[in-house]
Amino acid sequence: MAFPVKRLSSQKSLKKGVLEEELCTGCGACVGLCPYQVIYHDRTVQLHYCDLEDGKCYAFCPRTPTDLNALRELLFNSADLTPEIGAVKSYYFSRAADSRLRESTQHGGTVTALMELALARGFIDSAIVSSRNQEFLQNGTVVNEKAALRNNAGSKFTVSPTVAAFNQLVNDKSGKIGVVATPCQALALAKMKLKPVKNDSGKIGQLQLIIGLYCGWTLSAEKFTKLLTQNNISLQSLKGMDIPAGKNILELYTNNDTQAVPFDDVQACVREACHYCLDSTAEYADIAVGSARFGNDWKEMRRWNQLIVRTAKGKELVELAIKRGVLEIREAPVESLQELKKAAMEKKNTALRNIIRKSGSAKNLLYLDRHDPIVQKFLKNKASDKKSR
Ligand SMILES: Cc1cc2nc3c(=O)[nH]c(=O)nc-3n(C[C@H](O)[C@H](O)[C@H](O)COP(=O)(O)OP(=O)(O)OC[C@H]3O[C@@H](n4cnc5c(N)ncnc54)[C@H](O)[C@@H]3O)c2cc1C
Ligand code: SF4
Ligand code: SF4
Repeated sequence: MAFPVKRLSSQKSLKKGVLEEELCTGCGACVGLCPYQVIYHDRTVQLHYCDLEDGKCYAFCPRTPTDLNALRELLFNSADLTPEIGAVKSYYFSRAADSRLRESTQHGGTVTALMELALARGFIDSAIVSSRNQEFLQNGTVVNEKAALRNNAGSKFTVSPTVAAFNQLVNDKSGKIGVVATPCQALALAKMKLKPVKNDSGKIGQLQLIIGLYCGWTLSAEKFTKLLTQNNISLQSLKGMDIPAGKNILELYTNNDTQAVPFDDVQACVREACHYCLDSTAEYADIAVGSARFGNDWKEMRRWNQLIVRTAKGKELVELAIKRGVLEIREAPVESLQELKKAAMEKKNTALRNIIRKSGSAKNLLYLDRHDPIVQKFLKNKASDKKSR
């Protein structure tokens, strides 16, 4: 399937080019805009067809063609741009200064601490985070105060249709919004900024902050639930999970103990769409946060984050957090940034290879524009790698 799928309505193009091709990331950007698109479990479903040619579902989907160069120009200072990890104004290791907060967060609690500060200082009126139900399915959830932010801290490795909650919130209410987003969700939100649909520009103006999460993949809820059952782990008892640095396992934290599942078994549960994703560091967010990688002591490392500041707004919030003692900062060694770039390049190269395999030709990159300068750069690298072999 090559984009654009002309002569079809937007919604049919979305079906043919994204849903049927298993490129749907489950971000939720096409949901909550009309009664016809819904999320069922962790799948995006079209209940009814619509004939609109310029539907927002197609326009905002992160897996329909986008002028990424225009997006980079709109959002970032060109001097900050890097081909591997997008715009970098500054790069640190960070953690929430509040040690009690860190106990309930995934790593250093940087995301929750920054959102708390953004709410407290009026950067935003509401935050959208992700909440899990007993079946390990998730929803975007609107929160307005600290306790609710803390209750929803921690990473859930299944998909959250977070952008659907944004669509709903801007329909219901005015006010400034901050969103915690995976890279594909951040891209969908950024696309809304690039091309606000007629009469909608005020709504996207409500989006004041995107805190992005680094992301390697998300898991299919169905496959992951089966894997847990095979390992005698009950969903109800599961409190959290993580991938310890240097070990080839997924650690699962239950009410009673810690269990480990081989990483190869987990890989088999990765959503198909993630194999075609080039972004590991939330390149279209204001701030991006991931786990820290330094030294060999996972226990110490685990309670720190890597933090990339991408925009002026992100800089303002992070600098305030440091000044007010909300965040603790540790200088990140140059090697750490190099490692991050290397890992990000690997994800881009693998995704491009998978895209070409799927489409059958390097001239058809599905949702990507092969003339985009960053895509070009990676295609050239691949070609020169091949020659030198
Ligand atoms: C699916 C997924 C894959 C990830 N892959 C990597 C990786 O490969 N490498 C890496 O360094 N880091 C990865 N991360 C990020 C990492 O797990 C932490 O989220 C990050 O280090 C921030 O830690 P923290 O302690 O500051 O977060 P916290 O303060 O605990 O805040 C986490 C926030 O993320 C929200 N959230 C949780 N799950 C989701 C979800 N599925 N979708 C959207 N929002 C969610 C929570 O509601 C909360 O607001 C991934 C995260 C997710 C959700
Ligand atoms: S990727 Fe997001 S916007 Fe695109 S079809 Fe899937 S849920 Fe909808
Ligand atoms: S790997 Fe990419 S497509 Fe998959 S959840 Fe993460 S950002 Fe979205």
